[in-house]
Amino acid sequence: MSLLIKKVRLYTAPEHSVDVLIENGKITRIGPDLAAQAEQVLDGKNQLLLPGFIDGHAHIDKSLWGRDEWYENDVPRNLAAIIANERQFRRENTLDSQLQSERVARQCVSRGTSFIRTHIDVDNEIGVRHVEGVLATKEKLKHLVGIETVAFPQSGILQSPGTEKHLEQALKMGADLIGGLDPCSYEKDPIAHLNIIFRLAAEYGKGVDIHLHERGEMGAFSVERIIAKTREFGLAGKVTISHAFCLGMVEPEQQQIFAEQLGELNISIATTAPVDVAVPPYLLLRAAGVDICAGNDGIRDTWSPYGNGDMLYRAMAVGLRYRWRKDSEMLNALDAVTFGGARVMKLTDYGIDVGCNADLVLTDARVAAEAIVTLNAKHTVIKHGQVIVDAGESLF
Ligand SMILES: [Zn+2]
Repeated sequence: MSLLIKKVRLYTAPEHSVDVLIENGKITRIGPDLAAQAEQVLDGKNQLLLPGFIDGHAHIDKSLWGRDEWYENDVPRNLAAIIANERQFRRENTLDSQLQSERVARQCVSRGTSFIRTHIDVDNEIGVRHVEGVLATKEKLKHLVGIETVAFPQSGILQSPGTEKHLEQALKMGADLIGGLDPCSYEKDPIAHLNIIFRLAAEYGKGVDIHLHERGEMGAFSVERIIAKTREFGLAGKVTISHAFCLGMVEPEQQQIFAEQLGELNISIATTAPVDVAVPPYLLLRAAGVDICAGNDGIRDTWSPYGNGDMLYRAMAVGLRYRWRKDSEMLNALDAVTFGGARVMKLTDYGIDVGCNADLVLTDARVAAEAIVTLNAKHTVIKHGQVIVDAGESLF
């Protein structure tokens, strides 16, 4: 299998037009006017070439994407009510998590997403049913997208007795990480909650990715405990804190201390760049070596009507939230949906260099900043060196 892309512009050097040769799924040559033969030639039309996008925080098992009826959201805005509503919805509706995760994953792929880390609900009513569904989708769509799975106790572990054994089962089935949820405010016993998660992660050689919505001092307490548990269980480099609003709320001195500790233990951060709450201090954390990725979170589910799977939209949300306007700052937003995700997910051979996996997006923009703000949905997408989306039209 070989593919020659003629005349594209790398987003890192958009002033030059180059050709890119791909052989057996890898980029083997990059240069102007390559004299190379290939089984397939793609006219790059002088478009901008970006690495495949990475959604570092998703919930594809629970999306209602593609269902006939619109879900009317009339849910009070507090965590316990939203969780209870979702459980009620599942009792009253048959939701095929394989079908739903496939539908929304295909939508994400059509917008250039190449890798997804998805949190999959595990609780004492559905057990590991959604894990089975998403693992089936992961296998079915492996030619289109890489899916990393988190066994996620959406209803808590202590608040949802019986969940622990289902989480363990999910890890045995092949989930890559174990999730967690607000150890203080939702679970009411942070040490017990974190002990279960970290013990299972250590025992099964998995990573940890914890949803932390807790604000201010309560959230800071949980971050301290997560840092301590990461040390205690020897899980440096394998832990992510999702959302972590509290990091944007504590005093600057405390932010600096956290940044250094998170950097030292290579604990990464996933953000959705929400408009209505504080966000982790991006540049401070990056300066301390903390990896940060962005994610779309839930798309069209009982939690939220929003989302279309487009990570360039998410990059724009990141840019807006952090008040970035300079082209150089916009590259941070692009990093959050590309290399940041790759670092968080420990992907190897990611990027646009010779030797990298050919997971790429071509889009009609002059520079990266324009790609982010234009929201052009008509990308051409390449996965494993194969054109899978042609100008917005899915080929598989
Ligand atoms: Zn989430």
